[in-house]
Amino acid sequence: MFDKIEQARLSELHFKSDDASQLQAIIAIHSTKLGPALGGCRCIEYSSDEAAINDVIRLARGMSYKAALAKVPQGGGKAVILKPKQIHDRAALFRAFGQFVNELGGRYITAVDSGSTLDDMDQISKVTPYISGSNVDGLDPSPMTALGVLAGIKSAAFHRYGSADLANRIVAIQGVGNVGFALAELLHKEGARLLISDVDNAKVEHVRRAFGAEAVTPDHFFDTECDILAPCGLGAVLNDNTIATLNCDIIAGSANNQLAEARHGKLLHDKGILYAPDYVINAGGLIKVSLGHLHRSEQSIKTKTWGIGQTLLQIFERAKVENLPTSVIADQMAEQILYSK
Ligand code: NAD
Repeated sequence: MFDKIEQARLSELHFKSDDASQLQAIIAIHSTKLGPALGGCRCIEYSSDEAAINDVIRLARGMSYKAALAKVPQGGGKAVILKPKQIHDRAALFRAFGQFVNELGGRYITAVDSGSTLDDMDQISKVTPYISGSNVDGLDPSPMTALGVLAGIKSAAFHRYGSADLANRIVAIQGVGNVGFALAELLHKEGARLLISDVDNAKVEHVRRAFGAEAVTPDHFFDTECDILAPCGLGAVLNDNTIATLNCDIIAGSANNQLAEARHGKLLHDKGILYAPDYVINAGGLIKVSLGHLHRSEQSIKTKTWGIGQTLLQIFERAKVENLPTSVIADQMAEQILYSK
């Protein structure tokens, strides 16, 4: 266990077990150098305790990198609730988790994530102020995530084509959920031609009608011919199989952990595909919950989110000059901020 902690340069790992509420949860605080650690709370079933520990450590570290490059006054942290097979009282479970967060005295601030909902966040906010993004505070991250992805797509287009104009550019979006739908709307306003794919046919139909998008079957998403591919659904979608079939110039989407393994960043680089590192381009939601929690104005949140485009331009330029994958450059830039004295 301590090996893992040292390897990830994690600063704290906390466990809580409470029979009455069925709570079994872990909170990982990777870094508080830039501010209190902020990161979502996952509530999913894990195959083992070890799998949950690995997940929370990896995710907390990712949040530190994301916050550093998003330039928000926040460290990186994450929580997982090991989801019971059957939850007897969901509200009680999340209130118990909220107590756990509260005991850390504000060093960790929680938020919504896979398997948790804004209603769950409402329960947490009954017992601790260290929560951002609930029905109570009205901080919905998804529209801001989509705005940041648009800024990133425009920067990638500028770097690749010499123009950020997206009129008539073909953009393929995988997953038209919270972020993908909002992104489709923004791209439609920019005059882009949209190809969309989702396993939920009702969502496909909605976006097809609303924005004149064309549907692509999920099986053929990655070999679709387009200018820009925007993965906004699942993680690990950029792997040996999909990269071999890609038919695009740019990959820029909101999904977390798009690269199945770190080496896939190099494969994209070698293929001449410009990849916008996921944790950089999808930081708009983090900016929203971070600055929203600090009661900053909507305009300042939008301005910082639009700045994601500028950060990506720096990454693209350095990657070109140093002939390295953009994913490697992003990590180097984050590590310089996090580990410099
Ligand atoms: P969501 O669940 O609302 O949307 C995901 C969509 O992907 C769903 O419509 C789902 O049906 C679809 N999907 C699932 N499998 C698919 C497949 N094989 N092919 C095509 N479509 C598929 O989630 P979201 O909140 O929009 O987040 C999307 C991604 O962005 C996730 O990876 C999330 O971790 C990441 N992200 C989201 C935010 C945010 O603010 N919501 C912030 C940062 C990162």
